[in-house]
Amino acid sequence: MSLKTFQDLIEEVHNRGICEECGGCVSFCNAAEYEVIGFIDPYLPPEYIHKDKCLECGICYYICPQTHVLDDDLNKTYQFTNFSSLPIGHYEDIYSCQAIDKNFLENGTDGGVVNSIINFMIEKKMIDGAIVSKTDAPFVREATFADSKYDLLKASGTMLDITPQLDEIQKFSTYTSSISELNYYKFKKLAVVGTPCQLYTIRCMQDLGVTPSENVEICLGLFCYENFFFEKSQLERFEKDFNIKFSDIKKINIKEDVILKLKDDGNGEKIIHIPFNHLKKYMRPACNACDDFTNIYADISFGGLGSSDKYTTVIPRTEKGSRIFSQVLESGIISCADLDANKKHKMIELISQFSQSKIKRKEDFMNNLI
Ligand SMILES: Cc1cc2nc3c(=O)[nH]c(=O)nc-3n(C[C@H](O)[C@H](O)[C@H](O)COP(=O)(O)OP(=O)(O)OC[C@H]3O[C@@H](n4cnc5c(N)ncnc54)[C@H](O)[C@@H]3O)c2cc1C
Ligand code: SF4
Ligand code: SF4
Ligand code: SF4
Repeated sequence: MSLKTFQDLIEEVHNRGICEECGGCVSFCNAAEYEVIGFIDPYLPPEYIHKDKCLECGICYYICPQTHVLDDDLNKTYQFTNFSSLPIGHYEDIYSCQAIDKNFLENGTDGGVVNSIINFMIEKKMIDGAIVSKTDAPFVREATFADSKYDLLKASGTMLDITPQLDEIQKFSTYTSSISELNYYKFKKLAVVGTPCQLYTIRCMQDLGVTPSENVEICLGLFCYENFFFEKSQLERFEKDFNIKFSDIKKINIKEDVILKLKDDGNGEKIIHIPFNHLKKYMRPACNACDDFTNIYADISFGGLGSSDKYTTVIPRTEKGSRIFSQVLESGIISCADLDANKKHKMIELISQFSQSKIKRKEDFMNNLI
């Protein structure tokens, strides 16, 4: 029996419009120095570059989040049963936390917890650095290596010479091929921050024992209901649709919906909530084919949903994730809201509802594809 190859990914994934552009296939192929495939257009799925060099090893097919070949293996490793019994995946506990460091808190998307943990791990020499995401120019977000507090804050976009309101929307607007960046940091111990689709391919690579996944010491997963695709032409339409000016946006968060904080126009700060279902025309189409909201294969997952403003919801999942999070708590670099069992239960219920809604969205989308 011949193995499936990238040609099968084109037919089964790209041509059906469900490529998540996670970069997993490209990352493996390039790390193995085959360089058969690559991203030619950053807004399109990867393509053949040297098709004649393809070894037909099949790894790109195995690790793709849309083929689900390794789901059973991963579910065993990460103690995930199925979405209907536990929509948020296996977890050890749930917290709502914020950074003590004012820089991480002020520049953080929510409570600045992810960057605080990475910084802690670098300082304690648990990792050499992390693959995070930075803004290079308006509407271009790229994976980057950070090995200091300065790098982490720089990646938050705060020191870049672009208008702050564009910087805000970019946190969510374009996609980052974080995994490809792993190739450049062989022989280092890395943390990787990523959305569920990105971390899925890393876990598959680890399951198969293929390079460059051996570099990844810890997977820090972000919740992700959907990602957006903002071409410049769409900005005007967005302003019209929601009767706002981009230049008035001070901050954007994604929790149970998209939250825009507008600048004080003299009558106080205005907050606008836009439900996900009003943003359909700005959503990346492939996100319809994705059912993981809370990043079930991460060591620790993070999101805004379930927590108050300036706090991050934290879900340690694996033994390693729980151990590192306990060390973080002991070190006093973050503080956590006092949550009793009832409050924790309510958070889990809320997050489960969003998880279920994402699962349902995928089911509907896939039914319509066939
Ligand atoms: C595309 C996207 C969609 C999201 N959707 C939701 C949602 O629907 N509901 C919800 O509750 N939360 C969502 N989140 C998570 C939320 O916005 C925060 O990232 C999370 O709560 C952590 O906040 P923090 O302040 O602790 O992180 P910080 O301390 O600010 O650190 C965030 C880290 O993530 C890195 N990063 C940012 N964007 C990316 C990216 N695209 N790929 C890889 N690394 C990245 C940054 O470089 C930084 O290191 C989403 C995040 C993203 C990027
Ligand atoms: S060499 Fe292997 S990983 Fe690269 S495109 Fe061919 S089948 Fe995929
Ligand atoms: S691995 Fe990622 S980038 Fe490659 S085909 Fe699959 S979804 Fe697309
Ligand atoms: S919804 Fe998020 S995790 Fe899923 S494909 Fe889109 S960006 Fe990736």
